[in-house]
Amino acid sequence: MSESRKRNKRDQPPANPTNINNNSARNTANSKLRDLSKSDKQQDEQQGINSVADVNEDESVSSSSTSSSEEEEEEEEDQDSDGLSSESEEASWISWFCSLKGNEFFAEVDEEYIVDDFNLTGLSSIVPNYDYALDMILDADSDDLTEEQTEIVETAAEMLYGLIHARYILTSRGLSQMLEKYNNVEFGRCPRVFCQGQPVLPVGQSDIPRTNTVKLFCPKCQDIYYPKLTRHANIDGGYFGTTFPHLLLQTYPDLVPTKPAFSYAPKIFGFRIHKTSTNYPKPAREKVKK
Ligand SMILES: [Zn+2]
Repeated sequence: MSESRKRNKRDQPPANPTNINNNSARNTANSKLRDLSKSDKQQDEQQGINSVADVNEDESVSSSSTSSSEEEEEEEEDQDSDGLSSESEEASWISWFCSLKGNEFFAEVDEEYIVDDFNLTGLSSIVPNYDYALDMILDADSDDLTEEQTEIVETAAEMLYGLIHARYILTSRGLSQMLEKYNNVEFGRCPRVFCQGQPVLPVGQSDIPRTNTVKLFCPKCQDIYYPKLTRHANIDGGYFGTTFPHLLLQTYPDLVPTKPAFSYAPKIFGFRIHKTSTNYPKPAREKVKK
């Protein structure tokens, strides 16, 4: 087993290893992450996830707008995950990875699915150090890697797992695992008031990794939102893909909720504002005027 994995098990797990592409940043991130203040954490995230942040400058805003109540919630969950990590001492890499704080959205992919080469078609050209990464995921990693190499492979393993995960959650087994998480409201609830706490599902805005971070789709208002917790805000959307929530709802049509009964009506002194008012957003410019 890799040294860094052992270290991660003993210590508090990193906030979100899927974010970290840059290995030197990861070293510093791992050692610093334990007692991070909020601002330190954001700095680390910025160092570690440049490629994601560059693409989504608007999205980095969401992670800096954490309210104090969210921080409290994260602290509460800290204690939960501590309990988890001590129990999972002999767990497989997959169980370990999914139990890390920040990886709560991920389902545990069946090893059977991963050992079938057909399911991994094309991934070897996307993921660096593919063979080592695959061995690590399947707990077949060799011990002759240096600590530095192990960390490089670990980063690749996280990416490979994410890309396998995006495919797996579209299989019937994967869908049913994600259904269970949805029924337990593990992905959170829609923040829109008139959706009345509708549970949401993770979705990517692209199937290509390093394009967008994961969003949450509300089946009631049919819109997407940033995850509420900062540790989920930087998960790669490509690890969930654009199809998943919609295939789940098509597979389990009973999940489709009724339309929201109300929508918000802006008022001034109790009077509804007329549709022609300048209070409303301007229509987008027509593209024809080129
Ligand atoms: Zn909604």
